[in-house]
Amino acid sequence: MRLWSREIWRIVWLAILGISLGWLLGYPWLGLAGGLLFCLVYHLRQLRALYQWLTLHPHDEPPAAKGMWGELFDRLYRYQKSQRITQNRLRATLARIQESSEAMRDSVVMLDRHGDLEWWNSAATDMLGLQTAHDRGQHITNLLRDPRFISYFNAREYGEPLTLTSPIDERRILQYQITLYGDDERLVMARDITRLHRLEQMRRDFVANVSHELRTPLTVLSGYLETYGDLKELLPPRLGKGIGQMEEQTKRMQNLVNDLLLLSRLEIDRGGEDHQPLAVGPMLESIRRDALALSHQQHSVQIILDCEARLVGSEQELRSAISNLAFNAVRYTPAGSQITLRWAAMPNGSACIEVDDDGEGIDPVHIPRLTERFYRVDKGRSTATGGTGLGLAIVKHVLLRHDALLQVESLPGEGALFRCVFPPARVVNDA
Ligand code: ADP
Repeated sequence: MRLWSREIWRIVWLAILGISLGWLLGYPWLGLAGGLLFCLVYHLRQLRALYQWLTLHPHDEPPAAKGMWGELFDRLYRYQKSQRITQNRLRATLARIQESSEAMRDSVVMLDRHGDLEWWNSAATDMLGLQTAHDRGQHITNLLRDPRFISYFNAREYGEPLTLTSPIDERRILQYQITLYGDDERLVMARDITRLHRLEQMRRDFVANVSHELRTPLTVLSGYLETYGDLKELLPPRLGKGIGQMEEQTKRMQNLVNDLLLLSRLEIDRGGEDHQPLAVGPMLESIRRDALALSHQQHSVQIILDCEARLVGSEQELRSAISNLAFNAVRYTPAGSQITLRWAAMPNGSACIEVDDDGEGIDPVHIPRLTERFYRVDKGRSTATGGTGLGLAIVKHVLLRHDALLQVESLPGEGALFRCVFPPARVVNDA
């Protein structure tokens, strides 16, 4: 402010000086005009110096000046200098980030808010085939054209990663993960999981092969044991008892092998070939009969049909999943319990099959882990009732293959409700 008032005073003095000189010469107004013109010329010269400095030599020292202009030049110079330091620091940080991304073995691709390619590391060139000069500014879906990637990209729900083969090498398996950041920009990461995938494949094949190989010896064993069982009366009592137990355990092993084989098939096959619209009522009716047979008519099993739509899916797989739920309801509830199988429409066009019982229920701490293989709330009880520990894992896999999800509601002492929710696309209304 001090400089500013000094500048005003300077103009006032020059005006007074101009008037005084003009008055002495007999032309006061001309003198005033002369004084002001002098001011104007001075300021115009400084302005030109500023303009030339900023446009022609912005990195040089500022032009020499006094008073307000000198201060203005100094401040601008200092501001420019600090801006340059910040810029350099940012550039160095960016270079370091790019360098570290470059060193990563995973692909990193930065997209702008429209989904156009901005930057990527050399792993992305190697895995996804992105070409530096040619592809910059292109939309990502022009380069990664797999429809599954496009719908994953557009869905904007990036909670789960997406696994696909590499667009340039069919033998490589990549796992994509997208992250939203900044102003709706996206970061696409792709990881090569070929080795992991192969190991997983080997594990599945191994379990499937072992289960398959165990089938024949077990059939032979149980065949002979059945024959010996028929002759139990002819054997000493201790041997007879042993044969009874062997029969029981062989049956358990057979159940286990069958469940393992079914799980392997559900994991290995892509499925979908035998999907067709099914009438749910008759399927629930036949499951009800099987459940009653298992319970020796000691439970009461009822069916409620609150939906007339048909369900698109594989009859064999769905029957196996719902049977597992119904048989669990029989096995984990005391005689006399009430079991309900229900097919119901839901508000948003989806529909669900529920299996509800009024048994002892499950403590909520166990619920998140129920679908894990071999997870049992009470191991002794599960084994005693002939459980393999794989029932709910099978249910989960079948539902996954039908785009459905499993909801479990239960409290100790208040029964258990298992709800399979099918999306609208799986529900066909004939009317
Ligand atoms: P399992 O072969 O042991 O029955 P599952 O995967 O079918 O294996 O079930 C996992 C566990 O969930 C069971 O061990 C049992 O403790 C519990 N469970 C399943 N259904 C019910 C039910 N209707 N009521 C109470 N507990 C249940």
